Amino acid sequence: DALKPSNFLRAIIERDLEQGSLQGRHFAGTPGDAAHHEAGPLDPAKIRTRFPPEPNGYLHIGHAKSICLNFGLARDYGGICHLRFDDTNPEKEEQEYVDAIKEMVSWLGWKWERADASGHNTSHLFYASNYFDFMYRAAEYLVTAGLAYVDEQTPEAMRANRGDFSTPGTDSPFRSRSPEENLARLREMKNGVHPDGAMVLRAKIDMASPNINLRDPALYRIRRATHHNTGDAWCIYPMYTFAHPIEDALERITHSICTLEFEDQRPFYDWLLGKLAEGGLLAHPLPHQYEFGRLNLSYVVTSKRKLRQLVDEGHVSGWDDPRMPTLAGMRRRGYTPESVRAMVEATGVTKSNAWLDYAVLDGCLRTDLEGKAARACAVLDPLKLKLTNWAELFGSEAHREACSAPAHPHHPEMGLRQFTLGPEVWVEQEDFMEVPVKGYHRLYPGNKARLKYGYVIECSGCEKDAEGKVTAVLARVVPDTKSGTPGADSVKVKGVITWVGAHEAVAAELRLYDRLFTVAQPGTGEADFLTELNPASCKIVTGYLEPSLAQWPAALQVQFERHGYFVSDRVDHQADKPVFNKITGLRDGWGK
Ligand code: ATP
Ligand code: MG
Ligand code: MG
Repeated sequence: DALKPSNFLRAIIERDLEQGSLQGRHFAGTPGDAAHHEAGPLDPAKIRTRFPPEPNGYLHIGHAKSICLNFGLARDYGGICHLRFDDTNPEKEEQEYVDAIKEMVSWLGWKWERADASGHNTSHLFYASNYFDFMYRAAEYLVTAGLAYVDEQTPEAMRANRGDFSTPGTDSPFRSRSPEENLARLREMKNGVHPDGAMVLRAKIDMASPNINLRDPALYRIRRATHHNTGDAWCIYPMYTFAHPIEDALERITHSICTLEFEDQRPFYDWLLGKLAEGGLLAHPLPHQYEFGRLNLSYVVTSKRKLRQLVDEGHVSGWDDPRMPTLAGMRRRGYTPESVRAMVEATGVTKSNAWLDYAVLDGCLRTDLEGKAARACAVLDPLKLKLTNWAELFGSEAHREACSAPAHPHHPEMGLRQFTLGPEVWVEQEDFMEVPVKGYHRLYPGNKARLKYGYVIECSGCEKDAEGKVTAVLARVVPDTKSGTPGADSVKVKGVITWVGAHEAVAAELRLYDRLFTVAQPGTGEADFLTELNPASCKIVTGYLEPSLAQWPAALQVQFERHGYFVSDRVDHQADKPVFNKITGLRDGWGK
């Protein structure tokens, strides 16, 4: 498939499927293990991937990459993708995040529940905290086998003795303790005999390894914290580097796909699983880790820590602020799941981190919405236009001319929008120039232009206030030029103007967004990323909408003719108090 962007993972998976190296996968834990039941019936020839978020924040566009990659590979190769909450760190994890993560994975269109051949639903939703018992048994095994020890050095001494890239580390004085002594200490740690931070369990590998991750990495720490799932059952918690490979192995993941910064962890991943397999706790074939480049979006940050700071310090209105690159924010902004998926796919899967421009996302959004979003007229920067011969032409100021337009130019089945023209309409400020610049075809004294779906009008001048500011444009209707009538083409004009009848305009709050940051890669230079926030990233104006939008539902996209794509705000919009967010313009370039 020549159009598919490069994805080296496909080649690996195809090789593995062809060689049959996924065969013979089975679970070696005891039947009491949660994973034993939860991983579901096993098809030995199928790939299993997983998306393993830590429930400590909201998902962002970078996570969308990982979600679409893992779920997409499972779909394409007839495998299974697990949604796994990597909840081994009790301090920062909350149910609110678990719920929000599930909601956004579903929103993107992926399912962790699958019906098998007999119609039975199997859920592939997992919690790493359900494996705490197994992890602890694995730790005791490592201690017994002389592969781990309890270190009582202070954190400072431990750091100093780790060495650095140019200096080998120094063995801890506790490194040579006997397995029996270590086992006793580990059990004391577990039983709450020692205070938080007094000691840690470390793997015993090689303090002189050129890979610092192999210099006896920490496996368990003492931390008295209530866990959202296991409550106060544990006062020791596994470190991520220890927990993650075990989670993958228990769930019989075949391809454990993660971002590049974990490349240096891979030797430990393999070491740990290899040792646990030697001890009979796990069985071959074991999962393999593969790394790919992170996806970053320009003019925003994609780090949960920084996103949280924006929320906590009130720089944005919340995790779902439409300027945020969180999936909740992007959904509220009006991006569709189709557009997010298309953007993620367009970037391919490579071995280098990518900075993607919003322009790519916006292009995907336009492609998606062009064929399906209804059209409507809206005036964003209103100026009154008075049709001075109205009563003379139609007999009364109260007369209304019925007009209509297709809801979508290529989808007649979407029907017609009905609206009326009266003696006063709203047009854009930019549609009038008292002294026109070269090439200007809209309203200026003496020029004719068309009110779209209405009549040709001829501008006769304007009204001004005491300061000389234009308060209204004056024009005369040119008779017998109404769109859709035989006389429509009798007068040729170059300018076409969108408008909304003042008598029936729906006033709406319009939220016009600009970039959240002023620099393309915030926080990557010397400056604190907060100093790079764009102070003008949200402009709120009152605009006027055509009456077809009077009963518009929340969270529905629409194309405002000539202005771009908007969406009714999913939180604040009400039929009688409309609020629309600008998603993007009709063409590339901000503010267009
Ligand atoms: P952050 O660095 O934003 O805090 P994280 O990596 O700590 O994110 P996790 O919840 O651990 O967040 O991430 C779940 C999965 O999503 C991981 O497998 C991670 O590699 C992947 N992921 C996170 N950020 C990105 C990104 N920018 N591009 C691609 N994948 C990502
Ligand atoms: Mg993480
Ligand atoms: Mg991270």
